[in-house]
Amino acid sequence: MKSPSWIDAHCHLASDKFKDDLSQVLERSQQVGVTGWVQGGVDPVDWDRQKELKILWGKRFITSFGLHPWWVATASASVLNQGFKQLEESLPQSDALGELGLDFGQKHDFNRPQQADAFKRQLELAKRYPKPLILHIVKAHPEALDILKSMGPFPKGGIVHSFSGSYEIAQDYSKLGLLISVGGAITQDGYFGLKKAIPLLSLPQIVVETDSPDQVPKLKEAGERNEPKHLVGIAETIARLKGVTTQDVLDQSTRNLEKLFGLI
Ligand SMILES: [Zn+2]
Repeated sequence: MKSPSWIDAHCHLASDKFKDDLSQVLERSQQVGVTGWVQGGVDPVDWDRQKELKILWGKRFITSFGLHPWWVATASASVLNQGFKQLEESLPQSDALGELGLDFGQKHDFNRPQQADAFKRQLELAKRYPKPLILHIVKAHPEALDILKSMGPFPKGGIVHSFSGSYEIAQDYSKLGLLISVGGAITQDGYFGLKKAIPLLSLPQIVVETDSPDQVPKLKEAGERNEPKHLVGIAETIARLKGVTTQDVLDQSTRNLEKLFGLI
């Protein structure tokens, strides 16, 4: 049987937390069959590091350049403008655009107008440089859906990363051609809306992510820092909720991502 070659739908391998041992982290990932990694972009420093890593790790290292809502929420007007200038220059070399979106969650709920404005400006860029979108939306689904509906369609599609909303909200994103990316939240206590949604969603609507090094899943093998190898444990939890096999979940998630990023 062919050995698996799955893709982690969202992680941050350019993070400082991986600077000392990324090769070992990715070898461990490859050993369990996770051989591709979609990045979430944060700021210009992060994009430069992603470019270096793509050279080392090849075409299944999917780069994504964007201005993360956390970065946007605290940036001054001049830093923000500089960020947009650099994004416009760099975006043609990227596989995807993002992270972009809105975060009105307790820890990052600053400067809502600036977040909304930067979200719209990045969606404008998506029209000039069509790329799949990597969306970060926390506690702001109605606001984000309004913006996406008024500015769409986005024919290159995208993913809603670390989704933890209800089935109804997931369906609204699906109608816009976006994939629902499920991560470690599914392994945690609580998250009842998400746990109810999973059996109702079809596998072609879902992708699976770790968000490494963040969002350590509640799995017995997980340590202090999240790693792409935990994708398998997260998929196992989804599989149990859906009554399918872990391989079914990861094969279809990978197929969805390969289609999105033109890898097949
Ligand atoms: Zn992220």
